[in-house]
Amino acid sequence: MKNKGRRLFLRMLGHAGAALAAAGAVRAANAQTSDHPLAAAELRDGLLRIGGAGGNIVALPSTDGLVMVDSGRPEQARQLKDLLAARFGDAPVGALFNTHWHLEHTGGNEAVAAAGTRVISHENTRLWMSTKVYVEWEDRRYLPRAAGALPNDTFFSSDPQPIELEIGGERIVYGHLRDAHTDGDIYVSFPQRNVIAAGGTATAGRYPVPDYITGGWIGGLIDATRTLIDMSDTSTLIVPAWGPVLGRGDLEAQHEMLSTVRERIEAMALVGKGIDEMIAARVTAEFDERFGDDAELFVSNAYRGLWWGGRMRGIVA
Ligand SMILES: [Zn+2]
Repeated sequence: MKNKGRRLFLRMLGHAGAALAAAGAVRAANAQTSDHPLAAAELRDGLLRIGGAGGNIVALPSTDGLVMVDSGRPEQARQLKDLLAARFGDAPVGALFNTHWHLEHTGGNEAVAAAGTRVISHENTRLWMSTKVYVEWEDRRYLPRAAGALPNDTFFSSDPQPIELEIGGERIVYGHLRDAHTDGDIYVSFPQRNVIAAGGTATAGRYPVPDYITGGWIGGLIDATRTLIDMSDTSTLIVPAWGPVLGRGDLEAQHEMLSTVRERIEAMALVGKGIDEMIAARVTAEFDERFGDDAELFVSNAYRGLWWGGRMRGIVA
């Protein structure tokens, strides 16, 4: 009896511990400093990756103004403006793509988009930016964004894709990665440079956490990763949401990890196990070295995304 009580107590402790650790990981990720300096590095033929703003930013000069992918955290918008001015003078931003709605990818929109800037995204990204959102797993509320921050050139899932456009002689190809990290993810490809900005669907050194609150789930991440692999060759540079640039081999490793973890989570869920048991069973064990230390948040969100979307395989209603 005593032992049983103690086991129960330990289980409860374990539960609270796991929840606290997961919340801690989110806080640590979010606290990644607003005073972190931005750093720009040329990836290929004039195309820059700007890191340090919470999410990677891509900038490419063209004769029709700068082409940018994402705009970083709001706290670093001023720094971003200064960096762009130092590099490119007063060249306007001709086109700004938003890979998804999250603030560390759209926070500088108002600062970098001028009156004539095309701000391009999937329609779902514009919708999330236009409304109040409570993201349970971050315990954070987001307010509607200012009109000047909102995408003004959106497309729907049903529109023909990929979409191609040319800006200042630069061919750009983009399209939807359906319900993956969020429900509005897009890739932006620069075929002349063999560079693809993958937004939240690819990560370096951390797990690609699905935001199930706004439509992300692990099965969509698997499909998105496959789409990106199929678009790549061995010299393609893939710019992830955050961190250093990836190659096709890294995407293959991500695909393997996602597929394996999904199967393990589903197998345990089907016999009635919950998140704490999945974490205790270390369903991500052999992948933690490559994908970092936020495994608990990843497992928790992957599991919730499967339930929320009614997507668990093998469940018969
Ligand atoms: Zn994101």
